[in-house]
Amino acid sequence: MSETSNARARVREVGGVELLERLDHLDAQRRRPPPVDAALVAPDVDASTDFDVVLAGGGLWSLLAPVLASRGLRVAVFDRSTAGVAHREWNASGPELRALVDAGIVSNEELSKLVVARYDHGVCKFFGGGSYAVEGVLDHAVDAGPLLAHARALAERRGVRFFDGHALTSLASSATAVRLRFGRSAGASSNVVAKLMVDARGVSSPYATADLVCPTVGGVMRGLVEGDGPTEMNPRVGEILATVDSIEEGRQHVWEAFPGRPGETTVYLFYYARSGDDVSLAELYARFFAKLPLYKEGDAALVRPTFGFIPGWSRLTPAPCAPHGRVVLVGDAAARHSPLTYCGFGATLRSLKPAADAIVRALERPRADLRSIVDDAPVHALTGALAHIMASRTFDGDELNDLLDAAFHTLHDMGNAPYAELLKDEMKPRAFLGFLRRTAARHPAVWGKIMRGIGVGVVGRWSLGLARSVFAIP
Ligand SMILES: Cc1cc2nc3c(=O)[nH]c(=O)nc-3n(C[C@H](O)[C@H](O)[C@H](O)COP(=O)(O)OP(=O)(O)OC[C@H]3O[C@@H](n4cnc5c(N)ncnc54)[C@H](O)[C@@H]3O)c2cc1C
Repeated sequence: MSETSNARARVREVGGVELLERLDHLDAQRRRPPPVDAALVAPDVDASTDFDVVLAGGGLWSLLAPVLASRGLRVAVFDRSTAGVAHREWNASGPELRALVDAGIVSNEELSKLVVARYDHGVCKFFGGGSYAVEGVLDHAVDAGPLLAHARALAERRGVRFFDGHALTSLASSATAVRLRFGRSAGASSNVVAKLMVDARGVSSPYATADLVCPTVGGVMRGLVEGDGPTEMNPRVGEILATVDSIEEGRQHVWEAFPGRPGETTVYLFYYARSGDDVSLAELYARFFAKLPLYKEGDAALVRPTFGFIPGWSRLTPAPCAPHGRVVLVGDAAARHSPLTYCGFGATLRSLKPAADAIVRALERPRADLRSIVDDAPVHALTGALAHIMASRTFDGDELNDLLDAAFHTLHDMGNAPYAELLKDEMKPRAFLGFLRRTAARHPAVWGKIMRGIGVGVVGRWSLGLARSVFAIP
């Protein structure tokens, strides 16, 4: 059995057939991207509607359903698999999680029960370099499954209809409504007309055209040795970014590890890639199992596999957007989260209330601009180029480790506030410029690496964007 087949067998053994199907489905879509939604006859301008808002996709963004229902809207959620089921643990800071309370999804007490672990601090560390602690970032681990199950139950109590096993296959939009067709497993299909569709199909949306992607595998593990040593797991510390080797086959692999319930740790392995690259979750799982002992000691057992492709948009290419007036992208489909940290959960928390407000406005005023209803921090226009460089495959040996070490050494020297701000997408463009200048002073080769990673033409466009954001030129 090849290492990849062996890795798939291990995922099926602990995750079951449905989870392996999800992995294979995601891998197959990288080789053959999802077809553009087939056309239907667009609804008449005065057509009657079944729902005000349909969410296609019931993953993380199903959190929006109870929020929209609380505004008095008729809402439905359709998922090709089961809506409100997550196979992930999500990390965010305490203030970021408050958005769940503010949006009326959980009470303070319910939120504290969903947080399975809190850490004293986080750390970023690089092969051959230093270890840089930071406080107040990604330091609460949230139990994603119960969070989404809670949101689904709340949404149902507020009148939201859920349709599991319904994959969106076709759509057509007029100026006031959208007609949708969902395929079901037995070959049957259902047609629905809504005033607006929220495309929450994540990376599977045909409009998820972001230029970068972060293949991520791992999951909840048991059996890692606890302690303070570099290859031991300290249950009071979250490891945000860690590298344990050099570039191999053009890729710098990065680990992260967050303690969860007592005795459990969520461990991920990922790398930065361009969306057209040949990437595979099954192959990355083979590496995960083979290289885990380099990262953490112990008799490690995977108890809950979690994986996915997280899209990233460098802001150097056209933005992902829906080609239909009454369709709006959110979450991974829209890819407005940080292209450097890929923190889609944090970005979703920031976006829930503004997105609900924008949808309510759009239903009142059919001509409202729906190109983007999710939060997009200005700093992403600058960090996107760095992510593009990380994905460029133009580096060898420890060139990226050295660059990352210089960057995080600089951030650490700048103090906890700017360090945390960058990781939470809150750094202002002017502070980012200062960070770049200081990194270049510590590691002068940085400008050459930028040129090599993104090319002279793109550097020109990026510098223009940088100048615009720093000097607030529209
Ligand atoms: C392993 C992993 C760990 C992560 N950890 C963190 C973290 O700690 N912190 C953080 O901030 N972010 C994290 N992220 C990122 C975060 O999980 C994503 O950004 C987020 O889940 C995106 O939400 P979404 O609703 O857009 O898509 P998803 O949550 O991926 O949901 C998409 C849904 O659409 C459904 N679907 C697909 N096609 C169709 C179709 N044709 N019709 C109907 N339904 C369809 C799918 O079944 C799925 O339920 C992680 C991502 C991964 C992969």
